[in-house]
Amino acid sequence: MEKRGHVLVLTYPAQGHINPLLQFAKRLASKGLKATFATTHYTVNSIHADGVDVRPISDGYDDGGFKHAPSVEAYLESFKTVGSRTVTELILEFKNSPSPVDCLVFDSLLPWALDVARELGVYGAVLLTNSASVCSMYWHIHQGLLGLPVKPENLPVVFPGVPPLGFSDMPSFLAQPADHSAYLATIMEKIECLDQHDWVFVNTFEELESELAKAMSGLWPVEMVGPVLPSAYVDGQIEGDTDYGGSLWKPNGDQCLNWLDTKPPKTVIYVSFGSMAQIAAKQVVEIARALQGSNKHFIWVVRESENDKLPIDFISSIDQIGLVVAWCNQLEVLAHEAVGCFITHCGWNSTLEALSLGVPMVAMPQWSDQPANAKFVEEVWRVGVRGKKDEEGIVRREEVERCIRLVMKGEKSEEIWRNASKWKENAKRAVSKGGSSDKNINKFVEVLLKGKG
Ligand code: UDP
Repeated sequence: MEKRGHVLVLTYPAQGHINPLLQFAKRLASKGLKATFATTHYTVNSIHADGVDVRPISDGYDDGGFKHAPSVEAYLESFKTVGSRTVTELILEFKNSPSPVDCLVFDSLLPWALDVARELGVYGAVLLTNSASVCSMYWHIHQGLLGLPVKPENLPVVFPGVPPLGFSDMPSFLAQPADHSAYLATIMEKIECLDQHDWVFVNTFEELESELAKAMSGLWPVEMVGPVLPSAYVDGQIEGDTDYGGSLWKPNGDQCLNWLDTKPPKTVIYVSFGSMAQIAAKQVVEIARALQGSNKHFIWVVRESENDKLPIDFISSIDQIGLVVAWCNQLEVLAHEAVGCFITHCGWNSTLEALSLGVPMVAMPQWSDQPANAKFVEEVWRVGVRGKKDEEGIVRREEVERCIRLVMKGEKSEEIWRNASKWKENAKRAVSKGGSSDKNINKFVEVLLKGKG
């Protein structure tokens, strides 16, 4: 049997983590490595990826995970204890096979996996699922640049390579640390030992965060390897994959694409707040009224759990102008030429996907790293505008409509579209043969292939 370098890729079982980790595993497999993808029992059946072996491990909550845990702390602690044991067992299972595991590549929310790798004598590599800039913010906080909680009177703050940040730009884990103490502790635990990893992969690309690329490479063994998107979108392969292959919800088939096919280019607004954010009911109403008032076609992803926040008359009133779906293949929608604006929460995957597919954004960040991503969208990459909140923390309908107009019509819109096309090209170049991310991946693959028959 052929001997190959073997990576075990371990994900946190949330959609925004499964997508980049799985895609990275697929990418490594396409370059000749054996790739095994490890995920929890209750997500394993949702994952179908050519060339990647998918195997279950346990987080201690095999009947559905996080939602059954009494708290975030309890969940992360259980994943650490039970996960360490079951990931170890999986790696040992391959020990006497023709391809024993050479490297454990793990999600940045699972810092304990480095100990598993060390214990078993295999390489340990983390994949950061935030931007490099956000990672740098956490690092500087860890170094004591600003005390926690971050207070408005100590702002704006300047981190190297990042524009001055105000309170509304701060990741919520820093602005409200008491509300997110378990996540923040996990992030800080990871940040503290980044220099001990064999590789620190970041789902971004050097051209997008160039100053950070330089600053980080002096600190850690960083390799920027993104955007890790399915091949159809970034390599110019017509027959490539158009989805990640690990959807936790059932996408609505071709309904969106068929509907988009009937609309002229750049006329449709796509609205999605990702897989986790719970939008305030008042905010949902404001978005609904803004969409009705904008006189544009739209597709709005409203997850089943959010559905009862929609105004009662809304669905019956949008018959001709909009589609509300519970889940879709977001990449296929963003890649459709009819889409002209993405109202987004600025999760890092959604932000990278919009950048890579050249779709201008209206940023409406909710929590976690999203406020910082929104800052970059508006002020650094200049591919969108950010909706301003009122004193209640709501982006009102007039403001949403104003943002839509800015992105879809007029002088500012032209500039935004020019920038969006530029980043689309840059992203494609980074991951195509000879591009910065492609070269960085190749360096890693070469190390793992060395000495194999
Ligand atoms: N997504 C999708 N269909 C949808 C909504 C979202 O496939 O209807 C995908 C999207 O393409 C992205 C992921 O779900 O890859 C969401 O990740 P992100 O980091 O944007 O946000 P999170 O869900 O982590 O808040």
